[in-house]
Amino acid sequence: MTQLPPPQATDVRLDERMQFALRGDLRDLQAYAVQPSAGLVKLDTMENPFRLPAALRQALGERLAAVALNRYPAERIEVLRDALAQHACLPAGCALTLGNGSDELISMLSLAGAVPGASFLAPVPGFVMYEMAARLHGINFIGVPLTAEFELDESAMRTAIERHRPAVIYLAYPNNPTANLWDDAVIDRLIATAPGLVVIDEAYQPFAARDSLARLVRHPQVLLMRTMSKFGLAGVRVGYLMGRQELISEIDKLRPPFNISVLNCEAALFALENVAEYARQAALIRLEREQLQQALAVLPGVRAYPSEANMIVVRVPDAARTFAGMEQRGVLVKNVSALHPLLDNCLRITVGTPEENPLMMAALKASL
Ligand SMILES: *Cc1c(COP(=O)(O)O)cnc(C)c1O
Repeated sequence: MTQLPPPQATDVRLDERMQFALRGDLRDLQAYAVQPSAGLVKLDTMENPFRLPAALRQALGERLAAVALNRYPAERIEVLRDALAQHACLPAGCALTLGNGSDELISMLSLAGAVPGASFLAPVPGFVMYEMAARLHGINFIGVPLTAEFELDESAMRTAIERHRPAVIYLAYPNNPTANLWDDAVIDRLIATAPGLVVIDEAYQPFAARDSLARLVRHPQVLLMRTMSKFGLAGVRVGYLMGRQELISEIDKLRPPFNISVLNCEAALFALENVAEYARQAALIRLEREQLQQALAVLPGVRAYPSEANMIVVRVPDAARTFAGMEQRGVLVKNVSALHPLLDNCLRITVGTPEENPLMMAALKASL
């Protein structure tokens, strides 16, 4: 094969073509940064740290090997939809649509609500994709600060809702990065004042003491979003959105037709058939979280915040120094200080395995 010559400079510079063809706000955008983690104890992205036992991995390998990769995803996706509906106890009158992770569902919601002048609203600090996806679709994003204790500021939320009339309100329950569950009475009152839809994002439901399934039944304007990522399949990319049938069928029209690959579908089905193993892992993570909380509570100079998720936010005297020290000692966490002023000097630590957590604690202590 002959080698192609290097590209030649032409009279119309690529720069000018890009200015002509691409939207101007792309220049100011940062690509989503994934921290390099090779060789480190990876506690930065709320992954389930456990793998499947060898026998189950073997069985999964055989299942995936039998999948027809030459075919587009077809009826098998309906089997996954039914299995997820059963797993989540989808209420009567409700339906479920699938996303390539919740991230895609958040994009679909933005696409659905993208009319001139529309606003989406969420408490901040919160999950960054709500704002990213809204703004990319030309939607005005309203972030309403939490209180200093990371609770919902009810009066600020009410004022913002009345003023901006948001088409969609996102409530992450538990919230990311703060990891707490907000006051239920406040949530219910906010749902009642919402002029449009309320999306309750329960990515961390496997680790939380409460959920919003009853809200889905009580309020037709509520959509409940969940994902298999934090549950243990972050690499597989399956998220789902539940709501009233008529509402879901409208949103489903925006779903890319083959967004769940045949491999993702089969891996998700396999996980749901082995849900007991994932439940065991989640219980272990919750137990490890409690042990970490106890150890953090007696660590001088550190304030650990309550968590109903598989992460803990800690405030330290100097987050940049502690982050760097921990990384040097082989432990990767997330420095969330720059995300919002309320998170000044905060690190977000994912709960790891019983082997990883003592390593993390030792690195934290040595890096304060
Ligand atoms: C991790 C996370 C998600 C994204 O999950 P994917 O399904 O992996 O795209 C959604 N919401 C919140 C609050 C999260 O923390």
